[in-house]
Amino acid sequence: MNIAFIGLGNMGAPMALNLLKAGHHVTVFDLVESAIQALEAEGANRGENAQSAVAGAEVIISMLPAGAHVRALYLGSDDAPGLFDTLDGAPLIIDASTISPEDARHVGHAASDKGLTYLDAPVSGGVGGAKAGTLTFIVGGSETGFTRAQPVLQAMGKNIFHAGDVGSGQVAKICNNMLLGILMSGTAEALALGVKNGMNPSVLSEIMQQSSGGNWALNVYNPWPGVMEGSAASRDYQGGFLTDLMVKDLGLAWELALGSRSTVPMGSQARNLFALHSAQGSGRLDFSSIQALYREGESQ
Ligand code: NAD
Repeated sequence: MNIAFIGLGNMGAPMALNLLKAGHHVTVFDLVESAIQALEAEGANRGENAQSAVAGAEVIISMLPAGAHVRALYLGSDDAPGLFDTLDGAPLIIDASTISPEDARHVGHAASDKGLTYLDAPVSGGVGGAKAGTLTFIVGGSETGFTRAQPVLQAMGKNIFHAGDVGSGQVAKICNNMLLGILMSGTAEALALGVKNGMNPSVLSEIMQQSSGGNWALNVYNPWPGVMEGSAASRDYQGGFLTDLMVKDLGLAWELALGSRSTVPMGSQARNLFALHSAQGSGRLDFSSIQALYREGESQ
């Protein structure tokens, strides 16, 4: 298939690479030139801008930071027209970014008005899952769109769920990431408490992994440096899932709670912790660096 891929960051680059490996023709675009060059070296075609990248595409995939970027790409901004105003043909549109359900519905309805099929398809599994092609896709949109997307999503993921109508993928993803934020901060808190009381973090992790405290943040994405080879914590929290993106997702959970008059006390606490951590200068570090908040004064 001819696929256009927009947004080649920590997640988008390995996802686009897996599409190339599966034999698809991929044309890429990112605002960062080096990101385009890295994919070109792997056999992708270069788009000079989003408009040229999508020319002749049967499928368009976007993997952008937030809702504002997705809206600007498809609907346009003061500076530039959106893809929906300039597209030829009727490619399937798959947005894999994590954005608000409201933004997804807004863009999805604008797509329908143009006779286009739009899916919100946020992912779970982190950079490791993106590289391994084992992401979980959580898809909102029509049944026919979901079926049409299968060959493309299967090249990048392992578990592909149809959550419901457009926007539902984002609702499920936001619930998941609120829980992840709670689990990561709770894991960091427990590890710091144990270490401050003389435990070796690796021994403590192993014990909790096999006990009732075991969870994905502890078992797969351990926040303590050196406990897990290959983890973001073991490479100075570089790359991975940025703290600022977790702050964004916990903010989306908060908005969703306000709109539905739900109470999210644990999610609110996690949002405040990650926002504080970001304000202290850690926004561009992996979110597991929240561990540092609990390590202050460790040597006292
Ligand atoms: P990132 O910041 O590493 O990458 C985003 C990329 O989009 C950057 O390369 C940026 O230059 C590019 N970009 C921004 N605006 C653009 C535009 N108008 N046109 C073209 N390119 C543009 O972010 P990421 O970690 O890859 O995350 C992308 C999305 O996936 C986010 O919504 C995030 O919440 C979600 N997500 C991330 C992870 C993770 O572990 N990193 C996991 C699941 C979901």
